[in-house]
Amino acid sequence: MDALAQAVREAPATARPQLDLELRGIRKRYGGFTAVDGVSLKVPKGRFVCLLGPSGCGKTTTLRCVAGLEDPDDGDILIGGKEATRDPPWERDIAMMFQDFALFPHMTVAKQVGFGLEMLKKPKAAIAERVKQVLASFEIAQLADRKPANLSGGQRQRVALARAMITEPRILLLDEPIGALDYSLRETVMLELKLLQQRTGISFIWVTHDQNEAFSLGDLVVVMNHARIEQQGSPEEILQRPATAFVASFVQGNNVFHGRVVRAGDGLLLVETACGSFLVPGRGPTIGSEVSFSVRAELITDLLADPHLNRLAARCTAVEYFGSLRRHVFERPDGEVMKVDQFGAYAARIVAGQRVELGWRPQDTVLHTGSAE
Ligand code: ATP
Repeated sequence: MDALAQAVREAPATARPQLDLELRGIRKRYGGFTAVDGVSLKVPKGRFVCLLGPSGCGKTTTLRCVAGLEDPDDGDILIGGKEATRDPPWERDIAMMFQDFALFPHMTVAKQVGFGLEMLKKPKAAIAERVKQVLASFEIAQLADRKPANLSGGQRQRVALARAMITEPRILLLDEPIGALDYSLRETVMLELKLLQQRTGISFIWVTHDQNEAFSLGDLVVVMNHARIEQQGSPEEILQRPATAFVASFVQGNNVFHGRVVRAGDGLLLVETACGSFLVPGRGPTIGSEVSFSVRAELITDLLADPHLNRLAARCTAVEYFGSLRRHVFERPDGEVMKVDQFGAYAARIVAGQRVELGWRPQDTVLHTGSAE
């Protein structure tokens, strides 16, 4: 992939303005149903962006609006600082890769890879030369004369990627691009794509419902729910400071509580929940407000000490052992599940059926402050 990376790197820096993509209040309705509801997003140059969310939350529709495959009802799309909302797909500085790769069954690999340049009406000799280069850089030169039916899943994925990248787009849009690959191939392919993105400086907008993909690949993770963005930020921000109860519960490893503020002062709230009262850092909410907060499973302990002011007794219902991690599943007094993780522990301290006093520090509790767009 180095020739392609080199070509892109040598493009003059001034040719690319600051933002690769800007969405301003994108809205898309299908009849009476709103699939995307006021999505705004800024993607600086050369970012790896993951749109993450449950099935049906509007990720693909957002991506299709960027691609020009759907017309938004409201809002603006700027690509490289240029208004592109009404431009046809081929006039946008983008390429798209689909989950099923959407290869043309009757075309050879070489023909498919050159297809984008043919559409741009580049001279035949230049296309042939560039296809040769790109096939070599994606290590698929030996497949040039094959048709898709005679390729493995991994090879099809490379062909689709080569076809998308040949025009050196500003943005590559990827809709669940590794969903069709064998599980064993995914990690390798993810790493390759991450390195390719970093080397080329092309922004990737990657749609997934898999949080492991989003957190390991994304510079910017955009969590969507019910057609809207719930939170956007770095993986660390999303994992450590979930802004809403939805984000906290969607992201693995959080324990979410709902309650009412009964005391407030000095940057600390006392929140009464169905499982007891807990101290939560926060200044905004006043007494009587309904709030939610969360605490990560690895920050809860059964080895209680003075700082663990937030305490709760619960019964362990199951223990899952992942080698480096032991995950304990508890049933909370309010009937919800509570997870407690222990790292690097070879010996089990807690067994299923045991009732345990658990605790965590107030400062390890995250108050959900609402949509953090
Ligand atoms: P998934 O992960 O399942 O692909 P998604 O987050 O990508 O989900 P979208 O494909 O964007 O979700 O769909 C958002 C909502 O819009 C869904 O409820 C879907 O049924 C609806 N929708 C999408 N396309 C159309 C269409 N052409 N006509 C009517 N409804 C549609």
